[in-house]
Amino acid sequence: MKVNSAKFVISNQNYKNCPANDLPEYAFIGRSNVGKSSLINALAKNKKLAKTSNKPGKTQLINHFLINENWYLVDLPGYGYAKTSKKNRAIFKKMTSDYLQYRKNLICTFVLIDIRLSPQKIDQEFMQWLCEKKLPFTIVFTKADKLTKSSNKRNINNYKSEMKNAWIELPKMLTTSAEKKIGIDKITDYIENLNNLTK
Ligand code: GDP
Repeated sequence: MKVNSAKFVISNQNYKNCPANDLPEYAFIGRSNVGKSSLINALAKNKKLAKTSNKPGKTQLINHFLINENWYLVDLPGYGYAKTSKKNRAIFKKMTSDYLQYRKNLICTFVLIDIRLSPQKIDQEFMQWLCEKKLPFTIVFTKADKLTKSSNKRNINNYKSEMKNAWIELPKMLTTSAEKKIGIDKITDYIENLNNLTK
């Protein structure tokens, strides 16, 4: 799918105030600093759509972007930022988990993982929660340009092996680099396929 238009629509704290749920929707989530804003901007071909920064923990709202006038890309608050207060963390958690559970048109959640890391407890627990709630998700490895191709392959294989200890079936995994625009078309094609299935 070619992205021809990407528009910011609205930011919300509550899923109930999100736009009408008449279009398919895809959410992006991950630990702060995983490269979520950069990936969203690369997907939308707009360097400024989602805010990118070196200061983690900035996106604290449910942000809706309308793509090609026919689907929503949703930027969710990053999790696991140590400098946010416990109270704030609980608020983000509730806001995000309500959105994920009750947003009717949410087709798939992309869980972003830095390709350099082994499975982290916080990501694994989040994916287990998605699984328990029967919410479809796909892993997106980010920052693939930071390592060589062979190291990426090895890391992904290690990631899969470790996950296999706790998971019966592994989720689909995609590899990307926002910096070098690797795997970006794979995500939009994947979304296009899902959009066609939901028609
Ligand atoms: P967010 O907090 O998850 O939204 O992460 P950002 O998109 O703001 O990125 C966090 C940091 O990682 C920034 O310094 C980005 O420049 C860097 N970054 C993000 N994506 C990539 C990537 O694909 N490759 C490289 N080398 N750096 C990246």
